[in-house]
Amino acid sequence: MEGPLTRALAEQLNELVTGKPLERILVPEGRWQANMLLLNCVGQVIQRVRSHGKWLFFDFSHGVTWLCQLITRSKWEVVSATEAAGFARRAKRRPLLTVYLRNPGGGPPFAAVLSGRPIFYIVPTAKVWSHPDISAMGPDPLATATFHDVFPYRLRQHPQRTIAAALLDQETVAGLGNMLKCEILYATRLWPGVKVASLLASQIDFLAGTVVGIVATAATFASKNQTFPWRVYDRAGLPCGICGGEIAVDRRGGDNHLTWYCPACQTLGKEPLLFEETEQGRS
Ligand SMILES: [Zn+2]
Repeated sequence: MEGPLTRALAEQLNELVTGKPLERILVPEGRWQANMLLLNCVGQVIQRVRSHGKWLFFDFSHGVTWLCQLITRSKWEVVSATEAAGFARRAKRRPLLTVYLRNPGGGPPFAAVLSGRPIFYIVPTAKVWSHPDISAMGPDPLATATFHDVFPYRLRQHPQRTIAAALLDQETVAGLGNMLKCEILYATRLWPGVKVASLLASQIDFLAGTVVGIVATAATFASKNQTFPWRVYDRAGLPCGICGGEIAVDRRGGDNHLTWYCPACQTLGKEPLLFEETEQGRS
């Protein structure tokens, strides 16, 4: 789940679960190693749910934090206590974690349910930023006030990498996935295969501003539960909104992913080719 969706989920969960005492935690038998640590959270209150990059942080009142990254179709759902009891009886996709919460306002009890195969850690809140998965993370354009200062240094750490590979590295910028990578490159007109070393400082500053802008826009769409209007991602063969040419898709980003881009618009940093590659030339 990319950063903007994670942020929208954090805000939604924050609104629903913050300040509600945990009544009970259900863990499937034999599947979960951390039962004792989890059970210590019963009777405690979640103080805040926040996000950085693709990570959710659940900060508890007693100084414990749950760290959760939703990968491979895992998800959090907030449902009524009755629905949660139904989930527990499901044959497939049985929840990993069912957290029953009390409604101090007197409303009916409800539950936050985690299913799938997420990455999940329970750590002392004071040690969150020394956790190896968290401490290495780069700045989050949605959460890091100093993003514009930190990003250029992180980017320059690996000058021989392509810009496409750099944007996907969570240690350079936290929260980007392949979809946002394509949109950011399109908005900057950068050729996906351009090497970081060949970028000018002014181009990196423009890139930083574009990352912040596109991620913020995507977060707004995500918080309204609307689909982001992708301009290049997954649009191979369709006309480019700027020049009308065909959007292409290939692996020229050198990042082990496909990159969707406009060959006519995204020429910044492209090396001139001695022999223009054609369909015939490749066969
Ligand atoms: Zn174009």
